[in-house]
Amino acid sequence: MNRNRNRIRLVAARIIVCVTLVCVLSVGMLLYQKYMYANGIHSDMTVLYYCVIAVMAVLTLLSIIESIRLIGMLIYRDYMTLLPNAAWVSAKASRLFATGKLVDCKFFFLNIRDCKYYNDKYGTRFGDAVIIRYAAKLSELVGKTGYVARMGGDNFALIIRRDDVDRVLDRILSLYIQVPATEGMRTINVKCRCGICSMDKADSFYDIINFANIAMSYAKECKTDYEYYTVKMVDWIREEKTVLAEYRGGMTNDEFIPFYQPKVDVNTGKLCGAEALVRWVKDGKILSPYKFIPVLEKTQKITELDFYMLDKVCQDIQSWNSQGISPVSVSINFSKNHLYEEDFVEKVKQVLAKYNVNSNQIEIELTESTGCDDFELLNRFTTAIKDAGIKISIDDFGTGYSSLSLLRGFNADVIKLDKSFLYSSINEDDNSKRFIKDIISMIGNQGGMSLCEGVETKEQLEFLKAANCNIVQGYYFDKPLPRKEYELRMLEPQYSI
Ligand code: C2E
Ligand code: CA
Ligand code: CA
Repeated sequence: MNRNRNRIRLVAARIIVCVTLVCVLSVGMLLYQKYMYANGIHSDMTVLYYCVIAVMAVLTLLSIIESIRLIGMLIYRDYMTLLPNAAWVSAKASRLFATGKLVDCKFFFLNIRDCKYYNDKYGTRFGDAVIIRYAAKLSELVGKTGYVARMGGDNFALIIRRDDVDRVLDRILSLYIQVPATEGMRTINVKCRCGICSMDKADSFYDIINFANIAMSYAKECKTDYEYYTVKMVDWIREEKTVLAEYRGGMTNDEFIPFYQPKVDVNTGKLCGAEALVRWVKDGKILSPYKFIPVLEKTQKITELDFYMLDKVCQDIQSWNSQGISPVSVSINFSKNHLYEEDFVEKVKQVLAKYNVNSNQIEIELTESTGCDDFELLNRFTTAIKDAGIKISIDDFGTGYSSLSLLRGFNADVIKLDKSFLYSSINEDDNSKRFIKDIISMIGNQGGMSLCEGVETKEQLEFLKAANCNIVQGYYFDKPLPRKEYELRMLEPQYSI
């Protein structure tokens, strides 16, 4: 970019000098001719003057052409990577598309994974260097038979010949690049996510870009490396939009309700708690959280719903308290987005106070992915919750990448082992079984309680009993129940185990 700017400055200076010279020379020549004419002198210098002016005029013209070319380059080039940019894609590439020159190609919408991580961890200069080096590597890989453009941020567009798609895809999903860092060159493995759209999927190039973008978002949602665009993805986007447009109205109309899934003490078979799981009762149908929680999570709207659920649960607990049912504690799922809320604990306390609910009547569930790298933040957050007398559990343990660090440095009251963890351990060999037993005993040694969710069979229960797991939850005992049914469990809290 700077190089181009300097070139433009140089060309502009050239234009100014040429134009000034042409003007000065022209005026000079006019005055000179006037003088000669007045004094009746004839001179051959006139021809020379005309030649000089002509040369200057040509130079001016050439400089103007050069600057127009450079400005064009600036409009269609990305300043950081010097690749074509989004304007190039929508103007030039779409012209190629309209003239049928891309008919044998596919369009890739590509997003670098973890770019935010590089920026946060090593600084934006390093993040920029990653993008620049990555762009260069992409160009090298795609070669002269395709096109690469930077669409902004960490997004790129690729136009690849159909017969080259497999090769390119195979290479770009995981690329190694060298990035300058304080300690020298650092090699990093950059992964990406792509949405791919064939050029025959739409008549307009704008739609092709849009479809590839949708396919990329879909890949993100499904946690896959790449997806080819299909029509069903549009339905998915439409559903997401509907959720975002309607969830607030849903809360106002009390369409979200808590279902309660019992938790059972492995030693006594007694009901020892419940997990509140949200259901959206919409147009007479019950919507599963999987249909709307991920959308709300992605857009940070989930925090509103979590507090809404806390409110509803506390309302129910107040009603059970007043009926003399003496409820066991209910855990509420809180998304990791709350970690950054300074007044989180204060807000929870206010809801408890509003319904006269005791802090030991609720529990807060945070997913393991909450742990990320920031243990300091997590510890501060949980300490504040525990100081308020509220128990905290780590949900979906075993699904994230920080499980063991969590066990070592974290002071949760309950660790909930994810069901997938349980199924893989139980269905596999003795080593896997020993592994889950070791995890349970490690949790106990750290002073925590272990809870296994997703218990569906007697065999799983027996295994967990033998492994000294403390609490179990799953369809073997109960599915998430509507409030009235759950009340019956509280009245008869004994399960046969
Ligand atoms: P989760 O917190 O891991 O909840 C457990 C999920 O496993 C629930 O799905 C539950 O119905 C299901 N489940 C329980 N026992 C069994 C079993 O034996 N077998 C099988 N296959 N599944 C079992 P559900 O209710 O569909 O909730 C899905 C997820 O949605 C929850 O996973 C949680 O992450 C999220 N969620 C639900 N309610 C809320 C909420 O109020 N706030 C937030 N932030 N997330 C919520
Ligand atoms: Ca949970
Ligand atoms: Ca869970």
